[in-house]
Amino acid sequence: MTDYCMLIGGERVPAEGGRTLPIMNPYTGEQVGTLPDASATDVDAAVAAARTAFDTVWSRTPGQARAELMLRLAAIYERRAGHLGDLESTDNGKLVSETRNQARFAARQLRFFAGYADKLYGRTIPMDNPDLFDYTRREPVGVAALITAWNSPMQLLANKLAPALAAGCTVVIKPSEHASMTTLELADMVQEAGFPDGVVNIVTGGVTCGAALTGHRGLDRISFTGSVPTGQAIMRAAAETLVPVTLELGGKSPNIVFEDADLDRAVIGALAGIFSAGGQTCIAGSRLLVQRSVYDTMVERVGARAGRIRLGDPFAPGTQMGPVANEPQQARIEAAIAAGVDAGARMVQGGPVGDDPALQRGLFVRPTVFADVDNHADLARREIFGPVLSIIPFETEEDAVALANDSEFGLASGIWTRDLSRAHRVAARLDAGTTWVNTYRVSGAQAPFGGTKKSGHGRERGEEALDEYLRTKNVMIDLAPTLADPFPLEEN
Ligand code: NAD
Repeated sequence: MTDYCMLIGGERVPAEGGRTLPIMNPYTGEQVGTLPDASATDVDAAVAAARTAFDTVWSRTPGQARAELMLRLAAIYERRAGHLGDLESTDNGKLVSETRNQARFAARQLRFFAGYADKLYGRTIPMDNPDLFDYTRREPVGVAALITAWNSPMQLLANKLAPALAAGCTVVIKPSEHASMTTLELADMVQEAGFPDGVVNIVTGGVTCGAALTGHRGLDRISFTGSVPTGQAIMRAAAETLVPVTLELGGKSPNIVFEDADLDRAVIGALAGIFSAGGQTCIAGSRLLVQRSVYDTMVERVGARAGRIRLGDPFAPGTQMGPVANEPQQARIEAAIAAGVDAGARMVQGGPVGDDPALQRGLFVRPTVFADVDNHADLARREIFGPVLSIIPFETEEDAVALANDSEFGLASGIWTRDLSRAHRVAARLDAGTTWVNTYRVSGAQAPFGGTKKSGHGRERGEEALDEYLRTKNVMIDLAPTLADPFPLEEN
């Protein structure tokens, strides 16, 4: 059992009144620790500490010095990747192979953005009046609140923390109450790296803590990853404070298989798209659109392969899919499957976990595949955030684009084709922040990521991410030897 503390102004502190929430392991069902359940007073203290650190230290710290601290933190992430991965898998049930890689990805993000910290150039701007010398400065916005979801806490946090620190912002981080351990471990890591007190603050808890933070008047930027309803609540609160908001929300991403695709590759891409991480990823390719002439083959092959995915202990080397991360999420997934069946959808793979002894104690949901799904049915419209695939047939390229874009989400999309012209043509027409061609669910620190429509706005990763944490100041200097006087004094 580990009883974690928060990090506020360099101090390791419990929540006001000592309130805590349990940390549960979704595979064993056991409690493995507690996390502080922060109040509005705790949040006030964290925002105040971030403000003081911004005003007195961090905004005056040269880019090279910020970069050096970030590189030290990256090295610590790498050194501790095994331990961090173990903690994350204990917290959210994801395969340890994936969570360890996410720790390494956090290191990569920090290194990528550290490179920008001393290269935040402004511009000189030629003016119509040659006596005016005009230039811009790119300045940090100030204090940023970084709020993350439970499915990939380390990776989601790195998407925000690395550009924020590089830009010169101080931060108050709030992870999900369902998976806070690796974020709370960060407290030790930033102290070991030598960050000044108050640059990184960490508060934990549920809705009370989240709402107190995102409604706080002391912020300059909110960056949120989570569900649409919470994103909407945050924007409503931000309408009062006028704090700008970056939103990384949900998806119902189309993965489109054309008849000219390499079908072996497309089957792998369809499975990876939806069943990696048990479908608990925002970018899950949860709608598989398949051209009619290869439709039956794809349904048969994807269904058969889905049925052979090995579920089990996320720490066991042979396991291909772990349990669902928490009880409320398992209940939501099972309800969506039951509603699909009730609505008459054709289930080609799935069903109860049965009596497999390895699956009796975790929160398991079998990989589930529905075929012939109507794109207007709930199964094709609502984000399930679990291992549930809806396969939808289409006739022509035009139909595929129309079906893909007929969604309130616009996060990711995939195209499987050997036709180069078609790949570019369709990529340009898909209303989504990311389009993969002949691959799915790959990412890199350099490549910008984000959504359209209800999947959110703003970009993370890549150079674009810096824009979320910087603002442009214009400086104009009159070089003329005299200044025209609009109110000349009359000669007596
Ligand atoms: P959630 O919205 O329930 O919670 C996200 C975070 O917001 C948590 O830290 C939570 O404590 C906090 N929160 C809850 N209520 C709040 C409030 N009123 N004000 C402020 N904060 C509040 O989402 P979740 O269940 O943790 O995550 C799943 C969702 O996240 C899915 O919809 C998924 O698609 C989305 N997601 C998106 C991305 C992306 O990059 N686009 C990545 C991962 C997950």
